[in-house]
Amino acid sequence: MPPPRLRFAPSPTGYFHVGGARTALYNWLHARQHGGELILRIEDTDTERNKEEWVDGILSAMRWLGLDWDGEPVRQSARTAMYVDAARRLYEAGLAYACDCTREQVEARTRGNKTPGYDGFCRDRGLPLEEGYALRFRTPDTGSTTVTDLIRGTPTFEHSTIEDFVLLRSNGSPMFILANVVDDADLGITHVVRGEEHLSNTPKAVLLWEALDPARPLPVFAHIPLLVNEKRQKLSKRRDPVALELYRDQGFLPEPMRNYLALLGWAPADGREVLSLDELLAEFRLEDVNHSPAFFDVQKLTHFNAEYIRSLPLAEFIAVAQPWADDVAGFDPAAFTTMAPLVQERVKTLSEVPQYVDFLFLDEPVIDDQAWASIAGKDTSAAILDDAIAEYPSAPWDATALHDLTLAIGERHGLKLGKAQAPIRVAVTGRTVGPPLFESLVVLGRDRTLTRLQAARGRL
Ligand code: GLU
Repeated sequence: MPPPRLRFAPSPTGYFHVGGARTALYNWLHARQHGGELILRIEDTDTERNKEEWVDGILSAMRWLGLDWDGEPVRQSARTAMYVDAARRLYEAGLAYACDCTREQVEARTRGNKTPGYDGFCRDRGLPLEEGYALRFRTPDTGSTTVTDLIRGTPTFEHSTIEDFVLLRSNGSPMFILANVVDDADLGITHVVRGEEHLSNTPKAVLLWEALDPARPLPVFAHIPLLVNEKRQKLSKRRDPVALELYRDQGFLPEPMRNYLALLGWAPADGREVLSLDELLAEFRLEDVNHSPAFFDVQKLTHFNAEYIRSLPLAEFIAVAQPWADDVAGFDPAAFTTMAPLVQERVKTLSEVPQYVDFLFLDEPVIDDQAWASIAGKDTSAAILDDAIAEYPSAPWDATALHDLTLAIGERHGLKLGKAQAPIRVAVTGRTVGPPLFESLVVLGRDRTLTRLQAARGRL
């Protein structure tokens, strides 16, 4: 068997969708594990909806995920002449015909028909192929087409249910299906791996492929399952957080994202969930992808991300987290390094890093209104702060001593440690949640801690 040739063929009509990212990953894994090639084909024939910034988004998201491709990206917008030429050959061979029906005419004629779609009105009118006329494929009236699909088996489509579909619009521009099939044939694609939403188009693609190039073996198809939200609804751009960029900008890391995406429709034989790229390359099998919809679970993805962050060697964590902390005014790399192990334990995404460390860099903490309200409303807060202000100056400045001392202060006022810590945490960090408190106080230093406790006490 010659090595396979696959393609990832996104349309640049919006942010790069997590579903697109999974399609890209599955294509990449199959190509790379068989020593094959992956072509990146930008399906940019829809000039009204395509934007160059979406193309840049695709390229940068692919790079971020670590998915490379072979050669330069193929741009469909540069290949229009080839599609028009293929359409012309079909017309000349009698496999396609020109049509001047308007949408309204077709609707008026076909209203109430059992099989929806075009009624073949222009089939035998012999209209010339010229500007102003659309070109339609002449679908056989009888028989059926069976698609061979690694995931779906062999679904069969009756030709009587497939309309004479449009290849060229009346302005001469090629339709998606034409460009898609001409390119798959021209680029020697052996495997078409794409989202399930394209399955219903596939018999048309097969008919077209056989009409254009009967000698060339058809590609193997693999339609991967739909992604759904927690309500089992198809993920939607408007309703669901589907942009890969969104996750990248929130401080998700590419490794856990890749790992999670791989599991949306596939799992290794032993059901393990954490897999490195090498393990994915060794174990992923396109033919083992299942066909039921896969739940894109943001919570689970977040959990994967947090686990991955915790598993990093400290130096690597510091390297990936520092750019996020660096944005905080007064950023101090040495203090950040000291705090880093505590932060690494707690954050789920890197965008949470600043809120765990900013209290260290700011001269005074910015006290969050809600956090302040949570302590200002309690009569024990003043007593706790008074005791801490009285006893912290002579305490050994280490986390265990501060823990024990604060525990004792709390007991004196009938509070468990968690409650006793609360006013101290808000006074010092400005927030109700954050890194472990006593370790944080040690890093902040005794003087700065006391200044903040006094300021908060004064404000109460
Ligand atoms: N351009 C199509 C899309 O973005 C993909 C078509 C295909 O993979 O065949 O959905």
